[in-house]
Amino acid sequence: MADVGSLPTRSRAMSRVAFLNVGMHGHVNPTLPLVTELVRRGHSVTYHTTPAFAEQIAAAGARVFLYSGDEPPLAGPPTAVTLMEQLARTAVQVLPGVLTDLRCTPPDLIVHDSACLWGPVAARELGVPAASSFTTFAFNRHVPSPTRASWGLLGAALAMPRSAWGYLRARRELRRRYDMRGVPRIDLADIRQPLNLVYTSPAFHPDAAGFDESFRFVGPSIGSRPADASFPSGELRDPVLYVSMGTVFDAGPQQLRAFVDALGPLGGTVVVATGHTDPAELGPLPANVLARRAVPQLEVLARAALFVTHGGVNSVNEALHAGVPMLVIPQGADQTLVARRIVELGAGLETRTETADVETVRALGRRLLGEPRFRAAGAALQAAQRHASGASRAADELEGYLRQTGAAERSAAEPRRKADR
Ligand code: UDP
Repeated sequence: MADVGSLPTRSRAMSRVAFLNVGMHGHVNPTLPLVTELVRRGHSVTYHTTPAFAEQIAAAGARVFLYSGDEPPLAGPPTAVTLMEQLARTAVQVLPGVLTDLRCTPPDLIVHDSACLWGPVAARELGVPAASSFTTFAFNRHVPSPTRASWGLLGAALAMPRSAWGYLRARRELRRRYDMRGVPRIDLADIRQPLNLVYTSPAFHPDAAGFDESFRFVGPSIGSRPADASFPSGELRDPVLYVSMGTVFDAGPQQLRAFVDALGPLGGTVVVATGHTDPAELGPLPANVLARRAVPQLEVLARAALFVTHGGVNSVNEALHAGVPMLVIPQGADQTLVARRIVELGAGLETRTETADVETVRALGRRLLGEPRFRAAGAALQAAQRHASGASRAADELEGYLRQTGAAERSAAEPRRKADR
C-alpha cells in the first residue's frame, strides 16, 4: 500500500476520485504516481482496470474494481478503425458494471483516459465532472489524432468493413442506452474535458502554446515501480544499451535480432525487452546480450547510455527524464511525430523500420554514443521535464478543478458513506 502516513498539514476537502482506464501499460503507468499522490493527500481513489494491472494499482493506493466481461479493453496493436470498434464494443460491455460500482460509492470526479470512451459516458450518467488523461501527445492540427475524421480514416473503414460495422453497431447500442451528448462521434482517441492532463513538458510537446487553457502539460508522471528481483541488475556492464519497442507493437524476432547484431559489438551489456516475441526466437545470443519479454525499464534507463525505442510517449518521457539519447524507430500510432520531435530537439536520431538493418542501426548507435551534442540536448530537455514536476502538478490541477466545480465542498459537507471506508 502507498504511504498515507504523512499527510500535508494544510486542510483539504477529501474527495472521491474514480479512475477509468483502458488496459494498456502506456496508459496506466503515468496514472500510478498520480494515484499515490492523491491518496497521500487524503483523497480516496477507486480505479477500474483489468486483472493484469490490479496488483500495481492496488500498490499505488487505489481501491481496485475489475471490468466485467472477458474481452480485455484494448488488446493488440490497434489501427484507427479497430481501435474505435474495440473501444465502442468494450464500452457496451463494461458500462453496466462500472455504473453499478460507481453508484455504490459515487465519486466527486472521474479521471478517464483520453481514449476511454466509457469515461465521459459514466460521468454524464452520474452527473459528476470529469478530467481527461492524455498519455500520448495531445492532439491539434499539428499533432493529428489517429482517429480524427479524415479521408484516410474513411478509406481504412471501407477496407475493414467488419470493424467499421462493428463500431457503428456498438455505437448505436450505446446511444440507445445512454446519453451520449458531448462524446465524440468519431475521434475517440481525443476525448476532451474541461481539464485535460498531458504528461509531458511544454518544452517537449509540439505546439504546446497552441492548446487552450484546458490543457495542462504537467510533465512526465514517473514514480518508483516495484522492484523486479528476477532481473540481474548486478550483471550489467557499461555502456548499457537498451532496446524496447514497447508493449503494444510487435517488432518480431528478425528486427530484434538485427538490433542484437548491431549493438552487441558496441555494448558492455545490451538489454532487449522483446515484448510479444519469445526471446528464444532470437536464436543464440552473444554473452553480453540479455533478452527478456519485459524488463524494469526505469531501472535500466538509469544505467543506459543509449535507448533504441519505438517512440511511445511514456518511453521517451522516461528516457528524457534519465537523460539517455535515443534512436527512435516508430512502429505506429503517434510515434512518427514523437520521433520527429526528438530529432528536432537534438535529443536523438530516427530511422524507419525498413531501414533499420544491422549496419544502419550500428552506425546511428555509434553516433549517439560518440557525439556529445545528443547528451547535451537531452540534458536541456531533462531539466524542462523535471521542472514540470509530473504527478504532484497533476494532483494540484485535479484539486483545483474539484474546488472549481464545487464537488469537493459538497463532498466535505456530506457524511461519508460506510462503503467507502
Ligand atoms: N515498459 C516496461 N518494461 C518493458 C517495456 C515497457 O516497464 O519491458 C513500460 C515503459 O516503462 C512505459 C510503458 O511500458 O512506461 C510503455 O509505454 P509507451 O507509451 O512507451 O509505449 P506502448 O507500450 O504504449 O507502445
